[in-house]
Amino acid sequence: MRCPYCKSQRTKVIDTSHDARGGVRRRRECIVCEQRFTTYERAILTPLLIKRDGKREEFDQEKLASGIRIACAKRPVAASDIDRLVGKIESTLQSMGKSEISSRVIGDMVIAGLKSLDYIAYIRYAIVYLGLDDLQSIRNEIDRLLETESEISLS
Ligand SMILES: [Zn+2]
Repeated sequence: MRCPYCKSQRTKVIDTSHDARGGVRRRRECIVCEQRFTTYERAILTPLLIKRDGKREEFDQEKLASGIRIACAKRPVAASDIDRLVGKIESTLQSMGKSEISSRVIGDMVIAGLKSLDYIAYIRYAIVYLGLDDLQSIRNEIDRLLETESEISLS
């Protein structure tokens, strides 16, 4: 732990306490400049995903990213945009403070994110994750997108 005053790495813990939410608070003193400061540690909880068949699965950042990459194949979407979307989804999950969450919630977040990045990637992803398995429902989704698009260009 670096001292926030002089950036020295030589600090010592002078007191440790636990709070009701499972966090650990440490009072520290810098050995170099003798300033005191407090640090707080808390475990970051990423909820388990409940899949459609009821099985539980750990959130896998890489698996999520590869699904999005497949949807974005040959589309003008930057790798950094995909990383940013995955990072945003992960931090949203963590901020929910839940121990379990439906995997559908993640699918919805990906879909919302892709919608603002690339319509074709969005449609590809939606076909798989919204289970759009016939042409009519795919068409309805495209119609909805076209409406949104014309609303945007009108305003
Ligand atoms: Zn210091």
